[in-house]
Amino acid sequence: MSRNLVVYNSLTRQKEKFSPIQEGFIGMYVCGPTVYNDVHLGNCRTFMSFDVIYRYLLYLGYKVRYVRNITDVGHLLDDGEDRMSKGARLDNLEPMEVAQKYSNGFHHIMSIFNTLPPSIEPRATGHILEQIEMVKEILDNGYAYEKNGSVYFDTLKFAEKTGEYGKLSGRIIEDLISESRDNLKNQDEKNHPSDFAIWMKASDEHIMKWNSPWSVGFPGWHLECSAMSTKYLGKNFDIHGGGNDLKFPHHENEIAQNVGSCGCQPANYWIHTNMLLMNGKKMSKSDGNTISPEELFTGKSVHVSKGYSPMVVRFFMLQSHYRSPNDLTDEALLAAEKGFKRLMDANKNLDGLIGASPLETILDTKISEIIEGAYSDMDDDFNTPRALARLFEIVTIINSLKDGQMSLSDISVTGITKIKDAMRTIIFDILGLKDESENNAGPLDGLMNLIIDLRQQARVNKDWGTSDKIRDSLNEIQIQIKDGKEGTSWSFK
Ligand code: AMP
Ligand code: ZN
Repeated sequence: MSRNLVVYNSLTRQKEKFSPIQEGFIGMYVCGPTVYNDVHLGNCRTFMSFDVIYRYLLYLGYKVRYVRNITDVGHLLDDGEDRMSKGARLDNLEPMEVAQKYSNGFHHIMSIFNTLPPSIEPRATGHILEQIEMVKEILDNGYAYEKNGSVYFDTLKFAEKTGEYGKLSGRIIEDLISESRDNLKNQDEKNHPSDFAIWMKASDEHIMKWNSPWSVGFPGWHLECSAMSTKYLGKNFDIHGGGNDLKFPHHENEIAQNVGSCGCQPANYWIHTNMLLMNGKKMSKSDGNTISPEELFTGKSVHVSKGYSPMVVRFFMLQSHYRSPNDLTDEALLAAEKGFKRLMDANKNLDGLIGASPLETILDTKISEIIEGAYSDMDDDFNTPRALARLFEIVTIINSLKDGQMSLSDISVTGITKIKDAMRTIIFDILGLKDESENNAGPLDGLMNLIIDLRQQARVNKDWGTSDKIRDSLNEIQIQIKDGKEGTSWSFK
């Protein structure tokens, strides 16, 4: 926590020093998926970006409450049908079956991509009471009106009274007013086209509906996030995130609802991720420009020449900053595959390397600077591509030490330990990558490397008693260690 984290705040459109409301704690809300069909890779990009943000905040020592919702009601299609109901109708399932099916699929993909689960994953349908309460508060405060059993948020009144509407998305209320004159005829019940439903009366054929003071109906899509973030993180919390396509209307309306009900801005920092493109165009289902995670893993798609492993895909995502668009192409994935392998190979090669200098060297200092640079990159609005570039500077050093272009006497034992710590912390803990190779023995490998390091430390200190004891004790449990030119290796006898 002693580091200086800077975050780009979409609300103020600038980078700001990050300081949480309560020292040591962070509340973070991220808009989760609408579970009416399979997640696509664009969704995955957004959730992987927030995974890295979450991981870095944890690394910094914060206790983070990470809330990511599941939208299982209220998100309407252009034709007005609820996405969940449509999914249920098409698949001949209960809406809850649809929600469960695609939530399971979503969790499965998230774990394949090695993303950490959120602390709380609330569902919209489990929070109808909280949403009804919020509608009441907004009505009581005069920022909503009821028409024929539906309740609409009064954006013009809200804008006039608070001056808050449009701040996040940059939409100007005057434009909204002139739009209203053009479009008013299509907006039957609403006073103004930018007004939005916070409660909707359900038609007879609508499947998901609840009792309320206004009608048997269902909450508006934007309401769930306002109600659930308030319930679990309080009226004012630290970070709110989502893809930048959610800025308007979803997040703008969330802010309006929160301010309209309790008078406070929900989040201090708004973080928005940029879109995933494919071959230069936005990934979108309607024009076929889409690829599912499975198609990408198996290579069964016209868009790729072969399959790519989940960690290659994650590495590819990390190579661009979360605020830049990222273009998925076969060439870029091939390059990512090479880069990821190089990184993993270097990390493995590191295991056998042992610094020979008893004192700190010039190379040690250089390495410390590179590592500090990588952490500073993460402090600078989670700049993963720059942090990765620093890791590749270290990869070059590791490879030179391994093939003898650099001498092991140029680096101390602590120098090597520093590289090992930094590589492991940044690659695995912060960036969330995993070594997928077959001969990766997981925790055992890590433990053996630790033991080999301790033995090497003893040898540098000429503590032959300890170093022999380690070797003999391992021998007794059938583990053999061999000292070679390229370092120390181990195997079962
Ligand atoms: P949805 O299930 O459509 O509500 O989207 C879930 C999350 O994925 C939201 O934060 C969206 O902004 C994000 N998202 C949707 N499409 C893309 C895309 N092509 N690239 C990146 N994020 C996306
Ligand atoms: Zn949301």
